[in-house]
Amino acid sequence: MLEWKPPRWTALRYNICMSIQILSEEVASQIAAGEVVERPSSVVKELIENALDAGADQITVLVKEAGRRLIEVIDNGKGIPAEELKLAVHRHATSKLKNAADLFRVSTLGFRGEALASIGSVSYLTLLSRVQKEDLGGSIRVEGGEVLPAEDLGMPPGTTVRVEHLFNNVPARLKFLKTDRTEKRHINDMVSRYSMANPGVRFKLHHDDELVFQTTGSGHVREVISAVYGVGTAKQMIEVIYEDENLALSGYISPPGLTRSNRREMLFYVNQRPVSDPALSSAVTQAYHTLVMKGRYPIAILFLKLAPDKVDVNVHPTKAEVRFEDKGEIFKAVSRGTRRALLAHTPVQEVSSLRGVSLWGGRAPEHNQVRRGVDSTWTALNRDREEGVFGQELNSPQISAPIGAPILRLIGQVAATYLIAEGPDGLYLIDQHAAHERVLFEKLTAERGEEHTSQTLLDSAVVEFSPASADLVKEHIPTLKKLGFDVEEFGAGSFVIRSVPGLLQGSSPEGMLRAAVEDLEVDETPLERNIEQKIIARVCKRAAVKAGQVLNPKEQKQLLLDLEACQSPRTCPHGRPTMIYLSVDLLERKFGRTGPM
Ligand code: ADP
Ligand code: MG
Repeated sequence: MLEWKPPRWTALRYNICMSIQILSEEVASQIAAGEVVERPSSVVKELIENALDAGADQITVLVKEAGRRLIEVIDNGKGIPAEELKLAVHRHATSKLKNAADLFRVSTLGFRGEALASIGSVSYLTLLSRVQKEDLGGSIRVEGGEVLPAEDLGMPPGTTVRVEHLFNNVPARLKFLKTDRTEKRHINDMVSRYSMANPGVRFKLHHDDELVFQTTGSGHVREVISAVYGVGTAKQMIEVIYEDENLALSGYISPPGLTRSNRREMLFYVNQRPVSDPALSSAVTQAYHTLVMKGRYPIAILFLKLAPDKVDVNVHPTKAEVRFEDKGEIFKAVSRGTRRALLAHTPVQEVSSLRGVSLWGGRAPEHNQVRRGVDSTWTALNRDREEGVFGQELNSPQISAPIGAPILRLIGQVAATYLIAEGPDGLYLIDQHAAHERVLFEKLTAERGEEHTSQTLLDSAVVEFSPASADLVKEHIPTLKKLGFDVEEFGAGSFVIRSVPGLLQGSSPEGMLRAAVEDLEVDETPLERNIEQKIIARVCKRAAVKAGQVLNPKEQKQLLLDLEACQSPRTCPHGRPTMIYLSVDLLERKFGRTGPM
């Protein structure tokens, strides 16, 4: 007879449960590091915060291999005395907090005394520092939590922290890192976030020896915005200044015509500390209500100042979340402040005071019509500025198309790219690609999930993807199915497409599938609905008629009819205008038919 043996796990369990023990310093630090150091950008964040706390006005960040190989932050701050270097890398060692009461009035970014110890436990950490009054700097090295002897060296005043081979001793962490592109993007976001809040600091960021970002340190937020988003965007941003008894709000928001498809570019700072709080994003989004399309979000960089005791910053290991004493009040104030800036800026007056001539064919505009018209004004204006369609001349509110779908009489096609049509009170130029995108987008959105949407292909297509993209395709097969794509995995990285949405017949199935998953990776925690909209938008973009494609009169007419039937005919799914409008009034003025002769 076989002898009964206890299963292996029993023995294992027994060992683990042996007795309660205090964890070694090394294990404890690694656990703490799990909270503080999630990815390379977390290291960048902590090191920048330390440099800022040290009063630096020049911070250089050097990154190699998306931070896996090296993250080095060089500052010109006040430095660490050589004899304190060992303390700096010790857990719960901080120079910023002495007792519990201090916790409620922290003015520095750091205070937990955890970052350097945590980083040191998951990398090779070198700390080099010199205080102004010493001639030499000191250094210290930490390898896997173990502190190695230091030596003196010549260096300019300030601190350099070098983090090498991050997570080499924590393979689980290493495995969870995303592609280099994604990790770099996180780092870039982090550096730009801090540079916005510290316009007086000169930031430089290098990836693999290439300077990819820098600010001037001039003290102007708009200049930093320019470095991050480009000068065109920076110029258009609207300044917000608002104050009430609870808080002071300042910063910049984008005009309604300048929007994004996600909330990622709404940045908030509470007492100079970057925070992420969905309630704040909603407060801003709410301020744009009726001014931007659903699913579009403004760019915002907003600084909230409130009394330190009205906000608890110690609720999150990386301090990314804060707790407000009165969230409702803060929310209202942010929304009100944003809305005011927005309305003060949008050219409502200009539109209604155009020498008594209204956009609406001579009728005095109703208040809300004008308000809604504002959106289109800006959309068209911004596009003009971007692309210089007609140059300066048309930078007047009259090029905006009235909201809603005008009834259009087709005149023809120009440059195989635009349709020309006559509307109730002027001339319309329609971008055929943008218009078709909009039409397909609304149709596909309406039809999704219905049976008849799918069209079986005569020859099913086989498409191959890189491993990363293949994972994305696999993950989104259910969503694709809902839209009418029948896609099945066919071997490592290969997929077979059996059917496509009937609406999009005629477009390359492979191209559409590629378009569908392209760039999905950048959304890390997307809501299902967002993903679906994104996929629809991408697929439609791919399937829409292109600029330069000749359309016969019947196709031109159908496109106009379809566009008229859309709910948001004036913009493509990415928020760009589908049409620009030249009012009869404008034409008359341009031809010198009105005004003093
Ligand atoms: P914390 O920032 O929460 O105090 P850290 O572990 O990030 O904790 O840093 C520990 C200490 O090391 C800080 O309190 C500070 O005294 C010192 N330190 C770290 N980085 C710098 C730096 N760049 N310049 C000057 N001092 C620094
Ligand atoms: Mg710190």
